[in-house]
Amino acid sequence: MKSIIVRFAPSPTGDLHVGGIRTALFNWLFAKNKKGKFILRIEDTDELRSSKTFIKSIIDALLWLELKWDNNKIFFQMQHKDMYIKFANLLIDKDLAYPCYCSKKEIEILKKESIASKTPFKYNKKCSNLSLLQRKQLETSGKKSVLRLRVPNTGSTSFEDSIRGKIIFENSSFDDFIILKPNGIPTYNFACVIDDHIMKISHVLRGDDHISNTPKQIFIYKAFNWEIPKFAHMSMILGKDGARLSKRHSHISVLNYRKEGFLAETILNYLALLGWSTEDSQQIFTIDELKRKFSLNKCSSSPAIFDPVKLLWLNSEKIRLKTPEQLCRLFIDWLNYNGNLKLIKDWDYELLTKAIELEHSKIKVLKDILYLVDFFFVTDSELNYSLSEYKIEYSETINILNFVLVKLVVLNNFSAIVIEQCLRNLSKLSGKKSSNIFHVVRFAISGKIKGPSLFHMMEIMGKHKVIARIKFFLKKASKYERKK
Ligand code: GLU
Repeated sequence: MKSIIVRFAPSPTGDLHVGGIRTALFNWLFAKNKKGKFILRIEDTDELRSSKTFIKSIIDALLWLELKWDNNKIFFQMQHKDMYIKFANLLIDKDLAYPCYCSKKEIEILKKESIASKTPFKYNKKCSNLSLLQRKQLETSGKKSVLRLRVPNTGSTSFEDSIRGKIIFENSSFDDFIILKPNGIPTYNFACVIDDHIMKISHVLRGDDHISNTPKQIFIYKAFNWEIPKFAHMSMILGKDGARLSKRHSHISVLNYRKEGFLAETILNYLALLGWSTEDSQQIFTIDELKRKFSLNKCSSSPAIFDPVKLLWLNSEKIRLKTPEQLCRLFIDWLNYNGNLKLIKDWDYELLTKAIELEHSKIKVLKDILYLVDFFFVTDSELNYSLSEYKIEYSETINILNFVLVKLVVLNNFSAIVIEQCLRNLSKLSGKKSSNIFHVVRFAISGKIKGPSLFHMMEIMGKHKVIARIKFFLKKASKYERKK
């Protein structure tokens, strides 16, 4: 059996977006499922729009998502310019391709004429039958040329798409298209076929926006008399409004999801569901399950809908499946990635893990951890008290906190149970409502009205910090009173 070799071939003309990553993922899953190879090829022949920054962001995204390519090597088309010229010369020798000297201006005129007559533009083959002598003359007169492939203008070309079935094109709808630009750089279709051939690509899996390129690529395979790989074109991804996915619907760069605190495995799991499903409509997969279950038979040709709400739901589900230790590690990686590790001062791994555990069920994205547990780690003066939301009278606040301080200072065991007992006793002793006591203490130590279980929060924070916070707040509260 032929070995399975697939490739991901992005053009570095923009950040890697949701659709691009979905293509990479499907290729990678297909390779993993079939014990095949997954190659990374950077199609950087668009000199004007390709950039090193985009190459870096593509690689960073793949590394983050752990979509590892084989051989640890990346193929850059622009490092192989001579190879494409050599292959092009083979076609010229067999008269299957010819140089075309028509100027941009002439082509523009032809295009305008076709617009006026409402017919699709086709090159008029003006240069297709020039003699060798005529070509020489044009070249010595300084004329630059492109290379065009001779395309049959009768009959049809078809291929069996592994997702969509048979697709047929009338050859008459194609013209002798350009395969080499005047500077000798190959066009996308030409470079793609040469590379897929030399890399022995068995399956070409890509977005459906490439369907119309496939017959052109088949013309090139046929000109060389090369074996044609299998093709599969994935469904397009639409926003919920039914329009093709764009910046409006999702972050244009997949790395933005990383910044927001989505897990890599959520992105992979979610994107796997855009155009692929299992019999039982399973939604949550481990990466190993995806590798085991993925198949082209279960890919759909109907458009997939990108739903940010579902993505967020899936992320919170994935987060719920993590242990607090795992989540803590992921959070630290995330802070590091955003250059924010300094944001949480005065923390240690154990304390952070406990704090995360306390709020585990509320975390939807890693970013949430920051505001859910920030009060554990910021210095007293950095704590943001939103006094406007605070409802208890000033004098009552002072009273309660002074009572609380006296009681807490003598507590030897600062566990949640003991703290709770202590504050409830205080309510009985002082005749103050326990809910008011809890409210005041929570606000004094966290700056918030709502949050995790107060007694657990106090235990994790520790006696020393709780007392220092209450004292700090008392000073702050007096300022607030004076302003009134
Ligand atoms: N460079 C093309 C793209 O980014 C690759 C298409 C293909 O996979 O053949 O869309």
